[in-house]
Amino acid sequence: MQNFVRESHVPKTSKIRIYADVDLSVDSVAELNAEQSHYLLTVMRLQSGDKLLVFNNRDGEFDCTLTPKNKKSALLKINSKTRDFECVPDIWLMFAPLKKDRTDFVVEKATELGASRIVPVITRFTISDKIKIERWQAQTIEAAEQSRRVDLPLISEPIALNKLLTNWDSNRQLYFMDETGAGTDIASTFATSQAPAAILVGPEGGFSEEELVLLRSKSYAHSVSLGKRILRAETAVVAALSCFQAICGDWKKE
Ligand code: SAH
Repeated sequence: MQNFVRESHVPKTSKIRIYADVDLSVDSVAELNAEQSHYLLTVMRLQSGDKLLVFNNRDGEFDCTLTPKNKKSALLKINSKTRDFECVPDIWLMFAPLKKDRTDFVVEKATELGASRIVPVITRFTISDKIKIERWQAQTIEAAEQSRRVDLPLISEPIALNKLLTNWDSNRQLYFMDETGAGTDIASTFATSQAPAAILVGPEGGFSEEELVLLRSKSYAHSVSLGKRILRAETAVVAALSCFQAICGDWKKE
């Protein structure tokens, strides 16, 4: 029987890349906290002299050398800057939280797809597990590490839809994904759009009639269609953010 495991073709794992809330500047030394030291020394089994990439959501990304201080604590010697700090386009993802695993998926994908802020919005038909902001934060860090972002999305406290709209800054256009099909198609919509902007996706039960009336009454809010098929909320999130980045966000090359 043919052996399909071709070890020589297995790609080398890339350099470990972590987020750390420490000041990073070339030729200085930073001390990692106990949790991160444990991860690098015990879980990843890095050793003295091993290289890794570190970003801190403000100074950029740096090539560092690990220097264990003792068994429980690690120091980073900062060798060189590998990337300048940059922010993703100012596009917010606002969505009605879903069941735990689907919400996890949304938070991860929104980070990969370059949302600048993630806002849990409570709507009439929102049925969600308890919202744990700390868990969401940990997920954004993991997704940013993996996707090579040098910034992290902000996570807002949960907010009711009508309160969100009452305090809305009308310089930011709001695109709500409208499953009724009444909206403009997304390609035409984003052709004339730019950041700052926000995408809103409803819960599995959809928006209520009153919510649609309220949204449609706002001059800054635009009803958008994602085609004839009804998508699951998490699919709508990925589709809408992808269209934004492709048409008017940072997937577009200058
Ligand atoms: N229960 C609703 C569907 C809700 S889908 C129904 O059967 O009609 C969950 C959310 O995904 C919606 O609130 C909307 O924001 C988005 N969505 C799903 N399909 C969409 C489409 N074709 N166009 C625009 N938004 C869509």
